[in-house]
Amino acid sequence: MTDSAANILIVEDERSIASFLRRGLVFEGYDVRVTDSGAQALTITRDSQVDLIVLDIMLPGEVDGVEVCRRIRGAGDQVPILMLTARDEVADRVEGLDAGADDYMVKPFAFEELLARLRALLRRKETRGETREEDESGTYAFSDLSLDTTTRFAYRGERQIELTAREFDLLLLFLRHPQQVMTRELIMERIWGDDFPGESNVLEVTISNLRRRLEAEGEPRLLQTVRGVGYALREQTS
Ligand code: CA
Repeated sequence: MTDSAANILIVEDERSIASFLRRGLVFEGYDVRVTDSGAQALTITRDSQVDLIVLDIMLPGEVDGVEVCRRIRGAGDQVPILMLTARDEVADRVEGLDAGADDYMVKPFAFEELLARLRALLRRKETRGETREEDESGTYAFSDLSLDTTTRFAYRGERQIELTAREFDLLLLFLRHPQQVMTRELIMERIWGDDFPGESNVLEVTISNLRRRLEAEGEPRLLQTVRGVGYALREQTS
């Protein structure tokens, strides 16, 4: 990329807020696009350069903000997303962050604070971008576990481990979010998506198979169950 201004996409159906944001951000020198539709936001993000998205949670139509976020992350796009919510409700925030948003703000907010958070997200994107590009086609690692995305082999130390396609996807998801608790729903959505097998226990089975492979030589468990929530890649604490 050149040193041109960052492209910010505003997804907001409340016109007064959308135009207030657009004017403010244009004044700050950003390239700004606005849409009031979640579906359109997905098209724009897919088809053009978007460096950051300001995303309202409550949007008209089929695709609300959480869904936009989920689909963007589901497509493997790590564009920074700042969510806006009108309701100061913990549930909304958690849902937004679970769906892969980087930050959120509760309306009404001060423009200066929004600016500060956007700058922080854009900075993070730049520093992340440098390491990430190597990572994408290389190796992810956590503790003595590593995953080579070109050969698709996992390793515990030097021990090479063969994975099925699903196990590979699942392990990559965890290695991209080390230490983070990933909810069942989030994992299902990302790994199985449209093939979502409803009430089946396919996730539990895949996790259990993956563990069997990763712990075949008695290695300590890294894929932990977080009871009632989901799973996390972390070292055993007890
Ligand atoms: Ca709205």
